[in-house]
Amino acid sequence: MLDELKTLIALQHVDGQLLALEKAKGDLPGRVLELKSQLEQVAAQQHEKSETLAATQKKRRSAEQALQMAKERKKKYDEQLYAVKNNKEYDAVTAEIEMAVADIDQAETDILEAIEQEEALVKEVAEQEGRLGVLQNEYNEQQAILTEREQETRSMVEALQQQRNDLVGKLRKPLLGAYQRILHGKDGVAVVAVARGSCGGCSTRIPPQRVMEIREMNQIRYCESCGRILVYDDSEEETLHKMESASAPVAV
Ligand SMILES: [Zn+2]
Repeated sequence: MLDELKTLIALQHVDGQLLALEKAKGDLPGRVLELKSQLEQVAAQQHEKSETLAATQKKRRSAEQALQMAKERKKKYDEQLYAVKNNKEYDAVTAEIEMAVADIDQAETDILEAIEQEEALVKEVAEQEGRLGVLQNEYNEQQAILTEREQETRSMVEALQQQRNDLVGKLRKPLLGAYQRILHGKDGVAVVAVARGSCGGCSTRIPPQRVMEIREMNQIRYCESCGRILVYDDSEEETLHKMESASAPVAV
């Protein structure tokens, strides 16, 4: 048998196991990433809201100061009103009082608005804090499960990757390139056995003459239909059995 075919069969076997380990994680890695991005988003919103709240509180405090000052001014001019000596003075003091009253009105309006905004913001911040807590818990939980699973399979994955590196080193670059392309384009199955006269990957019928050629295993041959690398497995019965039970393309 061509050495490269042997290597390809072994490589496909290793890649099949790596893929199975990856698939065993399910959508957990994706879920963890999604939770992380949600967490960052909510935390950023929370930060923004807290800053708006702080600005509103500051605005209220300066309105309260303005109110205090306007009230003092009004008190001062109210007292002066008793001491006016003529109409001109009376008009001047009255104008000052009117201005102070207008300032008091404005300050009171500003304070009310700020209080309303603050109340809404405090509620929103609290709600978001709750959401943040729930998200954080879920993220921690899922991340812990993922880490645990990864630890369980780490030594297995490392051993397989070592095997993979050794095998990959034995292949010519163009052949390795072709293998990788098929592997990624065909759901992780690049090398398939001929099963009952058909491609084990796409089930396309292969002419008997070609099956005989493939059986010689002296050259890299590709399925004309799906492009996978075809090999001949003597334990065809077993391969066939696997195909039927998995009802999916079977790697060698
Ligand atoms: Zn095929």
